[in-house]
Parts: sequence; C-alpha cells; structure tokens
Amino acid sequence: GLGPDNGAPRREFDVLIGPLQILNQAVLDQVALRAGVDDLHLVQRLKEAVARLPVYDHRSRVVGWLGWQPSRPAFTQVMQSAPAIALGLAMCLIGFTALLTWLMRSNSALAVSRSTSEFLAMHDPLTGLANRVMFEKKLKAALALEYVAKTKVAVVSLDLDRFKEVNDTLGHGAGDQLMQEVARRLSLTLPEEATLARLGGDEFALVHPGIVSEGHADWICDSLINAFETPFVLSGLEVEVTASLGVALEEGGKLDASEMMRRADLALYSAKLSGRNRFEFYDPGMDRSRKDRRLLQAELRDALCRREGLFLMYQPIYDAQGGGMVGAEALVRWEHPSKGRVPPDLFIGVAEESGLIHQLGLWVLEEACRYAARVELPWIAVNVSPVQFRDPALANKILDLLGRYQLSASRLQLEITEGVLLQNSTSVQAALQKLRSAGVCIVLDDFGTGYSSISYLRTYSIDKLKIDRSFVGMIGKDAAIESIVRAMIEMSRSLHMEVTAEGVEEDQQRDALVQLGCDHLQGFLLSRPMNGPRLAQALSDVRSAA
Ligand code: C2E
Ligand code: CA
Ligand code: CA
Repeated sequence: GLGPDNGAPRREFDVLIGPLQILNQAVLDQVALRAGVDDLHLVQRLKEAVARLPVYDHRSRVVGWLGWQPSRPAFTQVMQSAPAIALGLAMCLIGFTALLTWLMRSNSALAVSRSTSEFLAMHDPLTGLANRVMFEKKLKAALALEYVAKTKVAVVSLDLDRFKEVNDTLGHGAGDQLMQEVARRLSLTLPEEATLARLGGDEFALVHPGIVSEGHADWICDSLINAFETPFVLSGLEVEVTASLGVALEEGGKLDASEMMRRADLALYSAKLSGRNRFEFYDPGMDRSRKDRRLLQAELRDALCRREGLFLMYQPIYDAQGGGMVGAEALVRWEHPSKGRVPPDLFIGVAEESGLIHQLGLWVLEEACRYAARVELPWIAVNVSPVQFRDPALANKILDLLGRYQLSASRLQLEITEGVLLQNSTSVQAALQKLRSAGVCIVLDDFGTGYSSISYLRTYSIDKLKIDRSFVGMIGKDAAIESIVRAMIEMSRSLHMEVTAEGVEEDQQRDALVQLGCDHLQGFLLSRPMNGPRLAQALSDVRSAA
C-alpha cells in the first residue's frame, strides 16, 4: 500500500500492513480530503517542515509517521482544522492499532505453536539436538546430495562409555545434565552442514556431508573425542566421561541410510570391544567378527555342557617382604578344538554378553574351591564378573560351594572390579556383606582403571586392592605414575586394606614396590600361571625344603 518514495524499508511495512490493507494511500487520501490537507502519506524518516503524527505498532514502538505538507497559504485553515484532522487520524489509528495488535498476537501465537510442534517433532527435547526423524531426513538428503557432489558422507555413531554407571551412581538428574553438556560440547566442534542427533539414551549420531578423505573424517572424530577431555561437573562432582565412536564413510548414491547406520553401529561395537574411548571405521571384517562371536558363543555353551576344553591355570602371588607364596589366582583357559587357545578376555566378553557367564563363573568357582581344598595353598583368588552379581543367589551359591568342598571361607578371595560397585544396588551390597561376614576376602581388581572413587571403598568396605598392571608397568618409566602408585599404597594402608601389585615383570618394578611397602606381588617376573599339578608340586617342594 505504500509508495516507494517514502523512504520506508518496504519489507517491514509490507509485513505490518500488507495483510490488513487498511492504512493505504486511498484511506489516507480520504482522511486528507476530510481534514483539508494535501499530500497525507506515511513516512519513516522525518524531513524538516513536515507536519506529522507518529504511528505505533502493538509494542508501542514508532514504526512510521503520518506526514503532510502544510501549505503556507492554507496555514490558518489548516490550523483551524487541526482538531478535526487529529480526531480523524486518532480514530483511524486506534482502529488500526487494535486490529494490527490482534492480528499480530493471533498470528504470532499461531506461529509459535506451529514452530514449537514442528521443533518437537524433529528434535530431542532434552538436548535440543535433532531426533531420529530429523536425522534420517538429513542423512537421506546428504546421501542424495553427495551423489552429485562426489565427496563422501560420514555417519558417526557415538555413545558414552559406562554411562549407566554415571546414571546409577549420580542419579538421573546428573545423567540429564551430562547429556546436555555432551550435546553442547559436540555441537561446538561441528560445522553448520553437519547434523548431530540424539537417538535415545546415551546414543548420539552424526551425519557429516562433504568429507573429502579418510583423514578428514579422522580429524573430525579426533575433535569429537577431544570434546570429552575436560571432566564434566555433575551435581558438583568432577566426573571423567569418555565416548566411543563408529564411523561409516561412503560416497552418496552407493548405500541407503539404514545400511550406513548399520555399519556405523557395527564399527561402534568394535570400538567398544577394543577398549573404548576411541573411534573405528567400518570394515567388512566386522560383519565377520560379529558372526564369529555368535559362533564362539555357541561353541562355548557346548564346551560348558560337555566340560571339554575348559580348565584353570593358577598364578602364584607372593609376599613382598618375606618372599613366600601367599596364594594364587585362578585363571580360566579354553582350549578350542580347532582354534586353539582362545584369549580369556575374548571368551569372557562373549560369555558376559550372552549370560553364559553365570554358568561359566560358577564352574570356575567350583573348580577353584575343589582344587584349593586339596592343596596346601593359603588361599585361592577367583575373578567374578559384574554380570554374575545380577544373580541374587550368587552369595548363597558361593557359600554352598565352600560347604561342599569343606573349604574355609578365609581361603577364598573374590576379585571384583569397580563395575560391581558401580551397580550400586542394595542387593550387590547385601551379597558382598554376606560373603565378607562369612569370612571371604573381597579384592578390588584392576584398581586405578575405573572411576576409583575413594568413597566406594568406604561404603563397600573392601579388604584388598590390586593395583592394575598398567600402573606397575610404568614404574621406572613415568615418575608421575610412580607417585600415583605410592599414593595408592599409602591410601590402602590408611584404610586398613592390603595391597597387591599385579603384572610385575622387572626387577626394578619389584624393588620399587617392595620399597613402597606393597604387601603382595604377582607377575611374570615371579611366576607365570601354571596348571594345577605343577602348582601342587611347587607347593610341596617349598614344604620339603623348609
Ligand atoms: P586379570 O584378572 O587382571 O588377570 C591377570 C591377567 O594378567 C592374566 O591374564 C595373567 O596371565 C596376566 N598376567 C599375570 N602376570 C603378568 C605380567 O607380569 N605381565 C602381563 N602382561 N600380564 C600378566 P589372562 O589370564 O589372560 O586373563 C585376562 C583377564 O581375563 C583377567 O584379567 C580377568 O579379567 C579375566 N579372567 C580370567 N579368568 C577369569 C575367570 O575365571 N572369571 C572371570 N570373570 N574373568 C577371568
Ligand atoms: Ca584378577
Ligand atoms: Ca587385574
């Protein structure tokens, strides 16, 4: 409705007045006629010697002016008619403003609710990131676009390592806080064309078009991993959280969205298996290794049923000061009929995934108790997986075994990991309490590799710590790690716990540990794991020598 000559930015006036079609030049002309003025028009910038009245918007901001040119000869007449003009204009303005305000309110309310529901349909309400719907849309678009562009699309699956533990120990509020901070940090590392989504729980996914090389994707993943370098502050506590990433990288037009996602997930799974806090690219071998694991699971089940191929080795543990053998750790072995020795880390992982660990773990406990009852070993240590503690009857089953093999409870030690403590459930606490009060010694294995919150040690009253071999291996190589080892030993002393160092491979490490006051030592330097009969022989050799 406005002429281009009035200096107003057209867009703004069109928006304000366009839909109403009220205050147009025709209306103004009528007002001008009645008021007896010439050239009544809307202006935005004021020129001198122009008579004017302001026009307000619904927020009482001046959006423009009604201006007219007072003609000198008619000046007196104009002055006389001024009240009429003012009245006419005022009425016009009131009507106009009321209508405008109403329109804008209803319009913006509508717009707000429409954009809110659109936003919610496409975004995760907790973090404000894209949700799965939006993610798939962006991924499909990227794959279609890259088909033309000939660069690659990266799909990254990301999830937090041990998020469940954070949630369980610090509560859901902290879990939510963590999600939001993770979303914020990750978003900061990404360019605008990338879409980061939260697909649920602690599962994030990224679609990144325009990747020029594998190195480019490497660089992006590095920066995502680095976003976790600084600890998170959750409910006032500093918590270290890391993430694992799986990457699928492909040119557009080759694979569909769901295959890209599947590959990224498989790569993520592999990154988790090979130690977390890392990223891995999909490769076809991963499809095979998934199949392999399923096969391995079936074979392990078979081996357990038939009691074939599974046996225990025993690694002696020595007193650091006096040098004598104080006990031994039972380590399970699997001699596969065609594959040979399967590494325990691998098949125990498979057993944990499939639930076979309950059966396998009980079998190990039984074998170890039976063996210990027969030989003159002060005590036997058995590893117990966190998964086994999900069985509420575990403590009773262990106490039953002690009864059946007439093994005194003080001759059994259970090596648990922080994963057990982090389950933070009352039933775990009850199980540990029951075992301890029966006289079974609870050892915290791999100490220093998990969250190692000293408060757990107090709550759960652990009897003994086992310093992880990664720390022991750095003695003599890294002074900072050495002082951590010293602190661990001092701490366990002040909490009245015994302390073992595992993985002692060199004289220098042994000497340092002895000097630091470590109680027990275990490692290849002192003895490799050996089979039952050999350990029994070693024990009787010691006795006859004494
Ligand atoms: P772990 O509990 O930390 O067991 C100690 C591992 O360190 C054993 O490996 C042992 O052979 C190895 N080791 C001992 N001394 C040295 C040394 O001086 N240097 C080095 N580099 N390594 C040394 P292994 O037998 O391969 O067991 C690996 C892991 O598998 C164990 O780690 C434990 O977490 C798990 N595992 C073994 N047996 C069982 C079992 O019966 N039940 C459960 N739940 N886990 C088991
Ligand atoms: Ca162990
Ligand atoms: Ca260990």
